[in-house]
Amino acid sequence: MRHKSPRSFEKRQFASDNYSGICPEAWAALSEANNGHAPSYGEDRWTAEASNKLREIFEIDCEVYFTFNGTAANSLALASLCQSYHSIICSDAAHVETDECGAPEFFSNGTKILLAPNRAGKLTPEAVREIVEKRSDIHYPKPRAISLTQSTELGTVYSVAELDAIREVAHKLDLSVHMDGARFSNAVASLNVAPKEITWKVGVDVLCFGGTKIGLPVGEAVVFFNKELAAEFDYRCKQAGQLASKMRFLSAPWLGLLTEDVWLKYGHETNRLARMLAAGISVINGAELLYPCEANGVFVRLPERVCIRLRERGWHFYGFIGNASRFMCSWDTTEADVAALLGDLKELSS
Ligand SMILES: *Cc1c(COP(=O)(O)O)cnc(C)c1O
Repeated sequence: MRHKSPRSFEKRQFASDNYSGICPEAWAALSEANNGHAPSYGEDRWTAEASNKLREIFEIDCEVYFTFNGTAANSLALASLCQSYHSIICSDAAHVETDECGAPEFFSNGTKILLAPNRAGKLTPEAVREIVEKRSDIHYPKPRAISLTQSTELGTVYSVAELDAIREVAHKLDLSVHMDGARFSNAVASLNVAPKEITWKVGVDVLCFGGTKIGLPVGEAVVFFNKELAAEFDYRCKQAGQLASKMRFLSAPWLGLLTEDVWLKYGHETNRLARMLAAGISVINGAELLYPCEANGVFVRLPERVCIRLRERGWHFYGFIGNASRFMCSWDTTEADVAALLGDLKELSS
C-alpha cells in the first residue's frame, strides 16, 4: 500500500490494536532468547516455560500450542472440535465468520458456520438453542460447537453469568465451546476475575489467547482445557504451516507478557483509556456511542463529514465493523493520544 504522507504513520493511531509495535517486556524476552543455539520446533526451554506459565495462570493442566496468528489458531482449534459434516454456531459479528476468509471451513474440510444475530456483539443461549432445535434431520449439518469471542468484536464483554448460561445450553445440546480470545486480556481486566472463571470453569474447551494485539510481535496461544480434543493437534499445526522451526522466537515473547501479569497490566490500561475516550465522545454533539465500552474499543456513529475531516487530519480508523467508526486503544496508547483525538473530534463536530 502507498501512503501520501509517511508522517501520518508516525503518530499512534486508533485504527487497530495491531497497529502498535512490540511492548518492551516482550522485546526484552525475545532478545534474551536470541542467545546461541537451542533445540528447534518447540523443544526449547522458552516454549516449555511459556506453556507452564499459562498452566499457572489458568490454574489447570492444559495443552498449549503457539501459532503465528489468530486466524490459524481459531481455524485449527475449531477443526479439532468438528467433523466435516458438523456445524459451528457463532454470532454474525464473529471474526471467524467475517474476517478469516473461510479458514475455519477450509481447515475443517467443510464444517459449516451457522450464524446467530448478535446482541451487542454477543451470542445468546436462546439463539444457540433456536439454531440447534430448528432441525434434527440428516439433511442439516449437525451442530457440534459454539464459538464465542471474549472480549467481543464490538468491544463488549460476556459476564461470568452470561458465560455460565452458554455453558448450560452447550452442555445440554452436546456442543463443544471455543473461545476466540484475540482480546482475552481486555476481558479478564474488565471483569476483574481469575482467568479460570471465564474459561474452563464455564465450560470452555479451547481458548485462542491473543498475544499480538496486547504487545507481542506475532503469536497466539491455543490453550486446550479439554485435553482429549488436543489429540494430534501438533500435526494440524504442522500441516497448516503453523509449526515454527525457531519456535523460541514465537514463545519467548509470551514469557515477557505472562511474567508479572504484564498482559493484565496492559489489559487494564487499554480498557481505562478506551473508557476515557468513550466518556469524552459521549458529550460531543452529533456523536453517538453504539455499544457499551467494556474493553479497549470505542464504537461511535459520526456524521460523514466528521469522518472525512478526521481522516484528512491524518487519523486512521475502521468504518466497517459494527456499522460504526471504531477506535481501538493499544498497549502504548497514552492519555495525550486520547486527548488529541478528542480535541480533533470536538473541533470538527462544533
Ligand atoms: C485480530 C483478531 C483475530 C486474529 O486475527 P489475525 O489477523 O488472524 O491474527 C481473531 N479474532 C478477533 C476477534 C480479532 O480481533
